[in-house]
Amino acid sequence: MPSFDFSIKCITCHLSQINCICAFRPKIQTPFEFVVLFHPKEINRQTNTGRLITEALTPVTSYIWSRLNPPLPLMQKITEGKVRPWLVYPGTFRHDLNAEPITDKPELFIIIDATWQQASKMVRKSDWLVRLPRIELNIKKSSTYLLRKNQIESRVCTAETAIYLLDVLGKKQESSDFSLYYQRFMNHFIADKRHQIVSSQN
Ligand SMILES: [Zn+2]
Repeated sequence: MPSFDFSIKCITCHLSQINCICAFRPKIQTPFEFVVLFHPKEINRQTNTGRLITEALTPVTSYIWSRLNPPLPLMQKITEGKVRPWLVYPGTFRHDLNAEPITDKPELFIIIDATWQQASKMVRKSDWLVRLPRIELNIKKSSTYLLRKNQIESRVCTAETAIYLLDVLGKKQESSDFSLYYQRFMNHFIADKRHQIVSSQN
């Protein structure tokens, strides 16, 4: 039986080249604008799922959060008032999006990619984030995220947040397509850890 080197990584998806998911990556067009705001410690973690959003959803932009260097292009966009910004924040969701009046401005969703403690600190230390309206996602399902220990069951990971958000916004197909990609990422990640190869049919 041939031996495979699982340590050789794909530079795009960070999985082993044998279990690379790049060929399966969907391009999911939405009428919304997504922004992923990464905690600096989060972006290079192999278990990170916010990256999946930046890879698969469009239009999307991303920034690495810094207290001293806030993302000026994003702040300017919000200040100009051409979009309706929302902070999709883990923990205390304040707004029920479906109860909001419809406007003709594109919705812009800022999704924080961080642990729960980090996210809370990022918001507390960023005046521009604190001021944004927050979205209530009434997530009833348990998280399916398996890649980190000590996850609190009801708390979903960053990719799952986007899956639920798309679903709430009525984008069922887009939510389902993105969910498949997220599930595939997890399957391939776990296969890498076990030094197994995922069949391309799976
Ligand atoms: Zn890849």
